[in-house]
Amino acid sequence: MTTEHAETRAFEADVARLLHLMVHSVYSTPDVFLRELVSNAADACEKLRQSALVEPALLADDPTLKITITVDPDAQRLVIEDNGIGMSREELIENLGTMARSGTEKFRQALEEKDAGKALIGQFGVGFYSAFMVANEVIVDSHAADHESAWRWRSDGSGEFQIEPAEDAPARGTRVTLLLREDHKDYAEEATIERLIRHHSAHVPVPILIRKAGESDDRELVDGTALWAKPKSEITEEEYTEFYRFTAGAFDTPALTLHTRAEGRQEYTTLLFVPEMAPFDLFDPERKGRVKLYVRRIFITDDAPILPGYLRFVRGLVDSEDLPLNLSREMLQTNPMLAQIRTATTKRLLTELKKLADNKPETYQKVWDSFGPVLKEGLYEDAERRDELFALTRFATTKHREGGRTLADYVAAMKENQTAIFYAVGENPERVAASPHLEGFAARDVEVLLLSDPVDAFWVRTALGFEGKPFKSVTQGSADLDAIAKAKHDDHHVPEEAKASDVATLAALVKQTLGERVSDVRASARLATSAACLVAPEGGYDRQMEKIVSRHGQGGFGAKPILELNPSHPLIRTLSSRASEGGASDRIADAAWLLLGSAEILDGETPSDPAAFNQRLISVMGTMFAVPGPSDHADHMSVGDSAGGDADG
Ligand code: ADP
Ligand code: MG
Repeated sequence: MTTEHAETRAFEADVARLLHLMVHSVYSTPDVFLRELVSNAADACEKLRQSALVEPALLADDPTLKITITVDPDAQRLVIEDNGIGMSREELIENLGTMARSGTEKFRQALEEKDAGKALIGQFGVGFYSAFMVANEVIVDSHAADHESAWRWRSDGSGEFQIEPAEDAPARGTRVTLLLREDHKDYAEEATIERLIRHHSAHVPVPILIRKAGESDDRELVDGTALWAKPKSEITEEEYTEFYRFTAGAFDTPALTLHTRAEGRQEYTTLLFVPEMAPFDLFDPERKGRVKLYVRRIFITDDAPILPGYLRFVRGLVDSEDLPLNLSREMLQTNPMLAQIRTATTKRLLTELKKLADNKPETYQKVWDSFGPVLKEGLYEDAERRDELFALTRFATTKHREGGRTLADYVAAMKENQTAIFYAVGENPERVAASPHLEGFAARDVEVLLLSDPVDAFWVRTALGFEGKPFKSVTQGSADLDAIAKAKHDDHHVPEEAKASDVATLAALVKQTLGERVSDVRASARLATSAACLVAPEGGYDRQMEKIVSRHGQGGFGAKPILELNPSHPLIRTLSSRASEGGASDRIADAAWLLLGSAEILDGETPSDPAAFNQRLISVMGTMFAVPGPSDHADHMSVGDSAGGDADG
C-alpha cells in the first residue's frame, strides 16, 4: 500500500553500524563512491532495457538510456541521474534502508579490519551507502518505470531516513543528490568528476554525460560503447583492469584476463577475469557464478550458468550474438547454445590457467592460494576434466611444506618400488605434518602429500590415480613400505627391533585386552619414533577423512581401527620381551589401554573413556614415584605437607 504522507524510519541496526563505519574508517580516498553510484545507475538502465524487451512501453517516449552527472560547486552539490528502471516507495525502503543480504555481519567484521573491507565493499552490496563517506545528506528522488507516483528518500546517514512524495522527480529513473561535506567539496568540480569518470567508468555500457548546474549543455564523457565489443588491439591493460574493477566491484588487479571472440557455429564474445583476491562469499553454499550474460549488448542476467561451480570465482561476461533475447530462467538451464558456450569457455579457461601456471608461476600461485580449494571441487565434480585440473593443482608435501608442488613433480621423484602416491589428510597443515603415520615414510625418504582442505577428503576418495599411480592414505591398510629401502643418512644406525615373535605375542595380548575396540593389533612399518598409532583397516576409509566427511553430513563408515605397534620403540621392545616371558599381565593390560589412548590423542581425538584413561595414567605415574626406601618417603611427605599446608591456610 502506498501512503501519501511523509514518514521517518530508522535504518536497520546493521545499516546504521555500517554507515558509522563508512564515515569514520574505511577509505583513505573515498573516490570509490562515484564508481558505486554510477554502477547503480548503469545497472538501472540495463534492467530497464531488459524489461523493455517484453514490455516495450516502459521505454515510452524516452528510449535513449543515459546517465547525467550535474556538478554545482557553488552549492557543494553533486547529482547523478539516470533514466533507468527507478524505484517504488517500497523499493526505496527495502533497497536503501535495510541490508537484505547475507554476509552483512561478515562484512562488518571485514570493515573493521580495514584493508579487507576496502577490497570487499562492492561485493557486499553496500555500494550505495558509500555516498555517506563524502556527503552530509543524500537525497534520492525516484520514479519507477511502471508506477504513477514518484518518491523521495533522504537521510543524513545518522540512523534515520525520511520517505515522502517527490515533488520534482525525473520522469523516469533515479536522481541521487549529494550535499557534499566541506572537506569533500572537490567532488562538485567538473574537472574532478571528469577525471574520475574517465578513469573508473570509461567503459560503462551506458553513455555518461556531464553538465554544470545552471547550464543547459551536456558534454559526453563516455559514449556507452561496450569495452568488450572493441578489438583487443585497441584496449590497454589498464582499461581492462579498470573495467574488471568496475564490473566486479573489486580493487585488485586480475591475475588473468581472457578476451575472446568465437565465430563459427555461433558467435559470442567473452571477457573474463580471474581475480587475485578471494571474495567473502567464495564458500557460500549457493556457489553462484558471477559471469554476466549479454545478448547483443543487452544485459540479460548476472547469474547465467556459464561456468561450473568450481570456477565461480571468475568474473566478467559473455555476450552472445545468437541467443534469443527473451531467455527465461528455465531456458537458461537447458539452452543447448548456452551449454556449448559453457563447455568451450570452461575448456578455454582451464587452458589459460595452465599457461599462466607455466609462464607466470608466481602469479598463478596467488590464484591457487585464493581459489585452490574451489578448483579442487572440480576434481570430483567434473571427472571429464580431472586431468586438466590435476595439472593445475598444487600441493604442500612433507618435502615442500610451503606448497607449490605438482603431481608430476611428485611422480617424477617417487622412490624405487614405490607404487602409490601417498597422502596424509587432516584438518590443519600443522597437525597433518605432525602425524606419527609419516615417520616410516620419512625414514624411507618417501614424499607424502599433505592434504588439509576439507575438499581434499572428497576428491581423494574418488580419484582413481594419476599417471597410473593410485592415491593411498598413510593411515590406510598396510603401508606398502616394506619394499622401499630405508634412507641411508650419515648418522644412520639401524634401530634395534624387538623379535617378531615377541611382538606377535604382545600384539595378541593387547588385542585380547582391547577386545572389540580395535579390529586388529600388529607390528608397524610406518612408525619410527612413536610407540603406536591407529590406522584404518585394508579397504577402509582413512580415519581423518572419515571424520571430515561425517562432519559434512555424509555419515561415517564406522570401521574399527587397527592399532599398530612400533617394534623398534624401546617401550614396545620391553613390553614384547615381558609378554613373551609371561606374567606382568596387569601392567601389560594397563599399557594396552594407555597405548590406545595415546594413539587416539595423536589423531587429535579424546581417548574414548577419558576418565579411565586418566585414572590409569595417574596410577602408572604413581608407580614411577613408588616409595622403596625411608629417605624417599620423607621427601615425598615433605612435598605433600607443604601443599597441604597451603590448602589449609
Ligand atoms: P548493489 O548495487 O550491489 O545491489 P547498492 O547498495 O549499490 O547494492 O544498491 C542497493 C540496491 O538499490 C540496488 O540493488 C538497486 O536495487 C537499488 N538501487 C540503487 N541505486 C539505484 C538506481 N540508481 N536506480 C535503481 N535502483 C537503484
Ligand atoms: Mg551497487
